[in-house]
Amino acid sequence: MKPILFNIQKFCLHDGPGIRTTVFFKGCPLRCAWCANPESQLSFPQITYHDKNCHQCGLCVSVCPNKALSLIHDKIVIDHQKCKHCLLCANACPFNAIQIEGYTMDIEEILNEILKDADFYKESNGGVTFSGGEVLSQVQAAIELADKLHEHNIHVAIETTGYSSKETFCKLLNHIDLLLFDFKHPNSEKHKKGTGVSNQLILENLALAKEHEKKIIIRMPIIPNYNDSLEDAKHTAQIFHKLDIKDIELLPFHQFGENKYQFLQKEYAYPNNVQLTKKDLQHLIEYYESEGFNVKCS
Ligand code: SF4
Ligand code: SF4
Repeated sequence: MKPILFNIQKFCLHDGPGIRTTVFFKGCPLRCAWCANPESQLSFPQITYHDKNCHQCGLCVSVCPNKALSLIHDKIVIDHQKCKHCLLCANACPFNAIQIEGYTMDIEEILNEILKDADFYKESNGGVTFSGGEVLSQVQAAIELADKLHEHNIHVAIETTGYSSKETFCKLLNHIDLLLFDFKHPNSEKHKKGTGVSNQLILENLALAKEHEKKIIIRMPIIPNYNDSLEDAKHTAQIFHKLDIKDIELLPFHQFGENKYQFLQKEYAYPNNVQLTKKDLQHLIEYYESEGFNVKCS
């Protein structure tokens, strides 16, 4: 079982305790409008176009078997309806203007890469976090890797949307130490509007994780005019009180992923929104703290 990844990032300080390596699995069933990693969404390798490298030689256009590329006004335009992700254009481009996002790696190769930093995990009480995309979409590979990491006494966390069948979710739960559980909106309709899916399954899986007595930290991206009101916070707090959730982390909206939308030639939904800071979320921090939650925000 070779997982498909889009990154392995070392020395991460915000994906769980201590110093960690974060393994980013490619493929996600959600389509969050604000997604900072849009290259993570498809579950297979795909192309990105970098116009600064492009010499307008037209080679990519000529090799594409599906006529998915056109050279228009000195730039390559991708027809996403026609592209079948064969990657021939990226392999043909002499200037690295078409690049490939996503690659497969053996579990042993990933493990060897992770083990290079074993001393740092030990010294900092850190470990490894599986993120994405959505790691639950590659559950067998995740289980295999988690078990191998545990053989080396390395702590394993997952950062997850919680969106999968209960069977899949339970399978992975038994192989990990910590859940960084994303939560986007307490209202199911609004959740669907922002992410493409209802929150029902997500809430059911969150309840399951509690039943399994897993350590859970909720992570909430706070998105302008989507889930930043006190009303949303009150609804969210009710849900978490019922589930006896204590630890939450608020993640202020940012636009770090914007250039990736350009490379993918996809429309970005938040081009004119200002990045939020901890100060902007003070009303929410104070509210959640007044409700007895342990709140982290950076
Ligand atoms: S990935 Fe394949 S189908 Fe898609 S544009 Fe490139 S050559 Fe054409
Ligand atoms: S092959 Fe590369 S350099 Fe040539 S037109 Fe295509 S993207 Fe640009």
